[in-house]
Amino acid sequence: MLGTVLYGPRDVRFEERDTPTILKPTDAIIRMSATCVCGSDLWPYRGINPVPEPTPMGHEYCGIVEEVGSAVTSIKPGQFVIGSFFASDNTCPHCQAGYQTSCEQKEIISTAQAPILRVSLADGTLVATPDIPSDDLIPSLLAVSDVMGTGWFAAAAANVKPGATIAVVGDGAVGLLGVLSAKQMGAERIIAMSRHESRQRLAREFGAADIVAERGDEGVARIKELTDGIGADSVLECVGTQESMMQAIRSTQPGGYVGYVGVPHGVELNGEALFYSHVHLHGGPAPVRRFLPQLIDLVWNGKINPGKVFDLTLPLDQVAEGYRAMDERRAIKTLLRP
Ligand SMILES: [Zn+2]
Repeated sequence: MLGTVLYGPRDVRFEERDTPTILKPTDAIIRMSATCVCGSDLWPYRGINPVPEPTPMGHEYCGIVEEVGSAVTSIKPGQFVIGSFFASDNTCPHCQAGYQTSCEQKEIISTAQAPILRVSLADGTLVATPDIPSDDLIPSLLAVSDVMGTGWFAAAAANVKPGATIAVVGDGAVGLLGVLSAKQMGAERIIAMSRHESRQRLAREFGAADIVAERGDEGVARIKELTDGIGADSVLECVGTQESMMQAIRSTQPGGYVGYVGVPHGVELNGEALFYSHVHLHGGPAPVRRFLPQLIDLVWNGKINPGKVFDLTLPLDQVAEGYRAMDERRAIKTLLRP
């Protein structure tokens, strides 16, 4: 088969690779219905994370099960399934606590920008939809695999409650879906921080009432101004830089919550500043598996449409253009069809 491989900064190739096969009795093989490029794929693409050797790419996926290993009992060939970027057994103490991305047996999924994918720990990792979905549902079901689940975790970790005032730092797909998640959880007022018109529009469509274009000190001042000098009850940090993290902490009222899901790049927290901020901090790699059944249900019943974050759809063999468009911010998120 042909699959996506990153060779170095801005060098994405679609080339011959071994077709995945069952390696362990707990594996499943999936024929991809759709996959996509993640904001986090841009870190190595831009050379910010080193790429020491040609590296297969992709960790968001949904598709039809082709084959399962002999130990797989709940997942069956022919089902349409969605999984998260970490395979997990869903039975160990960390999984039981709802932190499947800390599973004792976790394995990263990293070869999904391809037509066929091997998923380990299939029974724990994959969730089947009630039926084979219609084509128009595929983008939203794919979004559940990572960005929707991650935005949802940001809101859950930030303790979003009905009636609350929320700020969202970051206008990538995760930040935008953090807005959607906070709305679903009953937030009264959502302030989205964004400088880009197309993203502001989507943030408003997903439920943001206010847009703040300022960053840093000015951004914090603007949030304070919009909240009568108090700060937000909950802030979702969806970027992962020092500036965005400090903006999130400083925009939160004392006793409030920061949910952080941006993969940190050079973030260092000052203990004293944190001490006097009085905020709760909770985040990490989103345990998307915890939320899959609920989010699939919301999509299936037309309650949410997170697939709107895909503003570019390309055939999988044009994956390099998909990366370029996101790198140059011509696209929020690229969906790839094998
Ligand atoms: Zn586990």
